Amino acid sequence: MISEDNIFIKDYKKVDIRFALTYPNIYRTAMSSLGYNILYNYINERADTWCERITYPNIHSIESNTPLKSFDIISFSLQFEEDYFNVLEMLKQTEIPLRREDRSSKDPLIIAGGPCATANPMPMSPYIDIFIIGEGEVIINQFLDKYLENKELSSFLDIKGIYIPEFDNDANIAIVNEMEDAYHITRPIISRSDDDEYKTVFSDSIMLNVSRGCTRGCRFCMSSYLYRPMRETNIDKLVETAIESRENTGLNKITLIGAAVSDYDGIEELIKRLEGKGFQISTPSLRIESITYESLRLLKESGLKTITLAPESIDSLRKRINKSIPDEKIFSVIEDAVKLDFNIKLYFLIGLPHETMDDIKELCGYIERIANMHTSRHKIKFSINPVVPKPHTPMQWMSYDFKDIKRKSKYIKKNLRKYSIKIESPKKALIQYILSCGNSEVSEIIERSLTRDVNIHEWMGYLPEYGIDDELPWDGIDVGVKKEFLKIEYKRLETKKQTPWCNNSTCYNCGSCD
Ligand code: SF4
Repeated sequence: MISEDNIFIKDYKKVDIRFALTYPNIYRTAMSSLGYNILYNYINERADTWCERITYPNIHSIESNTPLKSFDIISFSLQFEEDYFNVLEMLKQTEIPLRREDRSSKDPLIIAGGPCATANPMPMSPYIDIFIIGEGEVIINQFLDKYLENKELSSFLDIKGIYIPEFDNDANIAIVNEMEDAYHITRPIISRSDDDEYKTVFSDSIMLNVSRGCTRGCRFCMSSYLYRPMRETNIDKLVETAIESRENTGLNKITLIGAAVSDYDGIEELIKRLEGKGFQISTPSLRIESITYESLRLLKESGLKTITLAPESIDSLRKRINKSIPDEKIFSVIEDAVKLDFNIKLYFLIGLPHETMDDIKELCGYIERIANMHTSRHKIKFSINPVVPKPHTPMQWMSYDFKDIKRKSKYIKKNLRKYSIKIESPKKALIQYILSCGNSEVSEIIERSLTRDVNIHEWMGYLPEYGIDDELPWDGIDVGVKKEFLKIEYKRLETKKQTPWCNNSTCYNCGSCD
């Protein structure tokens, strides 16, 4: 079983709002999410609200075993499109009518946030009363104050970062301007369990929020367009937070969290200072361009065992997606990692724009070359994923070619059998694409999947196709980046023209900093 420290237990008779922070995926995934943990602590700082956690497949809270339907507000954290099915399953289990039109004022208010809610709320819009567009901690206090004042849906419309399907209002994203205004947890929940199901990815470690947002501009990456610009926490604040968290937990291990931790200005100084205070450091997110031998050595010295790198593809296709890292740099980072005896995990994409079978053959050779750089093959693992076009990215006008991806995935499987390779199912990626880029009609097939198996042909019936001048389902959600800018980037997928990193060069007016 599981035991936890630092959870909030309040007297339910003394609070005005009972808030169910619901994660439609298993405990391990929920508690590995920094955003989920931030909201839990942040909301519980309010004396008038008790925020409790509920994770799939349970429909009772961890804190007090209260059933989901007894809460005033149920908030779903939508990190992955595939979790939409679990949202409906949880509502069904707890006997809350799925569709908002079938619910009454006696039912809890159902809200949703997270990257999927921010990017395209439409597929889930028949079920959710209010979507939070952006970073929760900027919006949630205003939202809860308003809830206490007036529960009418229309009263929430004047809060920035709110989308209400009933009014289909235009919404602007709300994010923290500076990391000084962000919430940094100093009393994180620590969970212990013998059961792997409950062990979090960063178990026994304090998560430090080094930065948010990334402006490198990889053309397939949704979070890099949603959460611009890049915002960094200053080193003193990070070291202070780490020390205070250690005092509150007894933990000595730090996990650095950010969109691309190695891009953090002063990463080596940060590692040295944390190490100097006796911390062990790890991080799941390194950007190849900004990795130095010194930063790898420091990370190794402080206990990191595995590094994760994302070359994505061969050089010519990397240029198309604006991730123009030279092969020499990729190979030299891998060589350094091999020298330092890291386990290495590499991510690749298939189905990139204009990718041919010849490219796939070249990719297989490329992967083979990397695999052979280590004498123990099991130390290098490859994850190959079909690229899924996402809203608010230059790829939003591309479709998903199921047959082509299936053929390529088969070829790779056959030709790289002897290496440690995991290929994501083309069918799963197709469903993810429909859930990501679909409109509100997609809700029909999500709901149908609750009662029976839905075959691939039925899914294909919901495959979106958008032309460059079409209105897109998420056009009413303004995340800062201008559509005109995305159109320029879309054309550059063809021409392979690079858009430089604005941290290093001049601003190219994507719209995020307006
Ligand atoms: S507006 Fe300019 S500086 Fe801001 S994220 Fe966009 S390109 Fe970078």
